[in-house]
Amino acid sequence: MSQLLSVVVPVFNESAVLEEFHRQMSEVMRATGCDYEMLYIDDGSSDDSAARLSAIRQGDQRVAVIELSRNFGKEVALSAGLDHARGAAVIIIDADLQDPPELVHSFLREWRSGYDVVYGRRSDRRGDSRMKKFTAKWFYRILNRLSNVEIPADAGDFRLLSRRAVDALTALPERHRYMKGLYAWVGFEQKAVDYVRQPRQAGHTKWSYWRLWNFALEGITSFSEVPLKIATYLGLLTSVVALTYGTFLLVRTVLWGNPVPGYPSLIIAVLFLGGVQLVCLGIIGEYLARTYQETKARTLYLVKGYHPTGGGVAAHDGE
Ligand code: UDP
Ligand code: MG
Repeated sequence: MSQLLSVVVPVFNESAVLEEFHRQMSEVMRATGCDYEMLYIDDGSSDDSAARLSAIRQGDQRVAVIELSRNFGKEVALSAGLDHARGAAVIIIDADLQDPPELVHSFLREWRSGYDVVYGRRSDRRGDSRMKKFTAKWFYRILNRLSNVEIPADAGDFRLLSRRAVDALTALPERHRYMKGLYAWVGFEQKAVDYVRQPRQAGHTKWSYWRLWNFALEGITSFSEVPLKIATYLGLLTSVVALTYGTFLLVRTVLWGNPVPGYPSLIIAVLFLGGVQLVCLGIIGEYLARTYQETKARTLYLVKGYHPTGGGVAAHDGE
């Protein structure tokens, strides 16, 4: 029972909820009876989250704080957390208390019965607007159509990962880390646990629609090559249509002469094809940009300060 558990918490401007989160989470972790560590990743917060984390660490020797050199985004912050986590199982949870800490008990139960990835599935997106629910539903539908790993809808980052799942994830070299896809990609035994997602406790969400749109593009380009093939098929289709129409015009002109009208069809064809070509170029561009970024192979994140566990008042020797 005294296996070490790690809790990984990405933090970006969460100063308003940090203490409350830490209190509730610690309570749950204590109740598990396991040895645990809590890793907070400060993802370049501009409020006083860093100071609060440092205070929390002062008061609790199980807390480690990893300060990233700037805001790298949640996905990368999670990678930093997974890289530093030492536990036999790692729990990923948001700092804003939208994910109920109590669910960890169910996660642990499933993990002990042999599952490698136990994820929270939102049975009710009460905290989300209708628009968000609608777009999310369609996004997952399209993504799963296009990709060859099954990415569960209504699952977020709130989950437990076994050591071998964590090792598999941290070994992936890619910089574009669409985590939801990567969790599914690693495979192993996966299990969903339903829960009700609460509205945010305080602070506000960092996900604007523009950010969500880019996140969606990230998901699709990371897990599907289908869009790249769109140009081929659209091209084939328009060629067939053009050829048929061309033949028709030719025959008509030869048989009945040329009565000149045809400006509308001409301009429609020109504009339509121009549009299709630009869209296809754009799609290629999306992939090209990602290939470009991957080939640069920059490090995923930079750590400004790593404050390991054991920093509390009653610190024991070593780490
Ligand atoms: N987060 C982060 N870096 C970012 C944006 C968010 O580490 O650039 C963290 C944030 O502090 C929170 C979690 O990721 O713990 C989820 O963020 P948020 O609540 O804004 O997302 P939502 O719950 O609306 O999906
Ligand atoms: Mg949230």
